Amino acid sequence: MLIREAIVQGSADLKFAGIESPRLDSSLLLAHVLKTTRTALVAADTDTLSEKACAEFCELIERRCSGECVAYITGKKEFRGLEFEVNPFVLVPRPDTEILVEAALEIGAEDQGRVLELCTGSGAIAVALKYELPKLEIHATDICPNALAVATQNAARLLPHGKIQFYQGDLYNAIPTQSFDSSQLYSLIISNPPYIQSHKIEKLPAEVQKEPRIALDGGFSGLDIIERIIEQAPDHLVNGGTLLLEADSEQMDNIKSLLEQKGFFSIKSFNDLSGLERVIGGKFEK
Ligand code: GLN
Repeated sequence: MLIREAIVQGSADLKFAGIESPRLDSSLLLAHVLKTTRTALVAADTDTLSEKACAEFCELIERRCSGECVAYITGKKEFRGLEFEVNPFVLVPRPDTEILVEAALEIGAEDQGRVLELCTGSGAIAVALKYELPKLEIHATDICPNALAVATQNAARLLPHGKIQFYQGDLYNAIPTQSFDSSQLYSLIISNPPYIQSHKIEKLPAEVQKEPRIALDGGFSGLDIIERIIEQAPDHLVNGGTLLLEADSEQMDNIKSLLEQKGFFSIKSFNDLSGLERVIGGKFEK
């Protein structure tokens, strides 16, 4: 079978299974099997596939048909031009979350600041920030040790010259206690925490449901973790420090009130790629 034919066949199978972007996914999976890029595939589309490659490709197409996302199948996902390792212990980094990094670069991350990322997962946000501003001192936490193993690998591979300090634990409790003096406060706290309402999880697309529930489930209101992050943020921020959060557009009014109650000002939101509010943040003055 030719490469071109394999892509068409894979794409037809995925379409039949109701996958939304069959052609793209088919070529991503074939590129993965052949250890090449999608662009290189186009140039070689009249080459013949070996039987072994063909069998491997069929297997991956079957996995995709059963609802597993391309990122978990290939073990990687691009985020802000960097290739992150992912597995089912971490949420797949979303294009929408790139807006959170952009917001940080716009209003929160100073060249030499100290940054705390909560719920780091694959480490995509922390690594992308450190990649952009190498002088930042970044601490990142996650409650899940298996997620931190992924984040640590990503940081080691993508930032050979810069270190991120990773801590395991529940939100701020993860930070070692010796960090609690005023010189150890952060200029930016950033997080894409779990924010989906518990009862909505089972209605999410099959592939999202294969992601770790702990990274998605924000409790009854969806705001359980966000409330805790906002409540304790003032203890960890310098004067004029910034808190930035990803959330659902429907949660923004509530989050704005929570921020105001805690003394945050200059509260601003940022829209995602579909024009919905996806990121909110503000500054804190003691
Ligand atoms: N944006 C993700 C989704 O809709 C949710 C991410 C999260 O809960 N932090 O699937």
